Amino acid sequence: MSAHIIDGKAFAASVRSDVAKDVQSLKQKHGITPGLAVVIVGEDPASQVYVRNKVKQTSEVGMNGFHFEYPADTQEEEVLQKVHELNNDPAVNGILVQLPLPDHMNETAIIEAISPEKDVDGFHVVNSGLLATGGKGLVPCTPLGCYLMLKDHLGDLSGKKAIVVGRSNIVGKPMAQLLLDASCTVTIAHSRTKDLPAEVAQADIVVAAVGRPEMIKGDWIKQDATVIDVGINRIPAPERGQGKHRLVGDVEYATASENAGAITPVPGGVGPMTIACLLKNTVTATYRQNDIKK
Ligand code: NDP
Repeated sequence: MSAHIIDGKAFAASVRSDVAKDVQSLKQKHGITPGLAVVIVGEDPASQVYVRNKVKQTSEVGMNGFHFEYPADTQEEEVLQKVHELNNDPAVNGILVQLPLPDHMNETAIIEAISPEKDVDGFHVVNSGLLATGGKGLVPCTPLGCYLMLKDHLGDLSGKKAIVVGRSNIVGKPMAQLLLDASCTVTIAHSRTKDLPAEVAQADIVVAAVGRPEMIKGDWIKQDATVIDVGINRIPAPERGQGKHRLVGDVEYATASENAGAITPVPGGVGPMTIACLLKNTVTATYRQNDIKK
């Protein structure tokens, strides 16, 4: 049987539409327009594409977008100065510093300089601490998007066996925390995991965040499991012409679709949800900073 395809593009559109309603209500009832500031350093082409999309979608939902671009050889001090300025600017409710930063910069120092209340990427140690202790912080956008898709598709996650493959600070670890919070029994797998196929085979929920094309094989997937594929891998596609590429996930999609109950495609699954959740976090931050209950 073929799996249900979880349409991240459609779901992201519905999240954005809810955000737009919140923005409208903040404007009308409170005279507040949420503002998101994006800081980008250097010319990394993938980052440029992400930032362009972020800026476009910010204005589409009616928020103010502030965009600051610096050349790759900018001194760390200058970026820190901008972060401090944005922390103190009441028109800015969310701050995002696009990663990766150039090698000469201390990424941690810059992220930790962002006020936790404005840290809409959810990477500040205060926000990861709040997530780990069940507090109300800002949750990293990609795992938040995965979690919302799982809730939407499965409803109550309580008691389900979940595996998160990957333990990065931006995806794997916060994803595992969210699933634990939802009362799943959670396994976190990584490059030293002994028998990954056997671990994956037990899971009702598989979240793959590895960064290796189609590494998780379809025949590892338990019958009717829900599969969320975070991976975005660019592989050569000579069938599309010389020098052409295509995107694939971390899961072997065609075969996994035969076993899974539901699966996210790549592209069109987790990817679109990430920016939608960034906008959602900016609205959440705006409500909290102004002490307004939704
Ligand atoms: P990282 O490289 O930071 O982490 C990868 C993780 O995978 C590590 O924990 C690593 O283990 C683990 N891993 C590597 N090889 C294996 C293996 N053979 N078996 C099991 N685990 C393994 O990546 P990110 O978390 O930043 O990103 C993961 C993927 O998600 C990438 O493809 C990235 O492009 C994508 N991504 C997509 C986003 C979206 O919006 N859709 C947003 C962010 C990321 P160890 O810790 O032991 O080294």
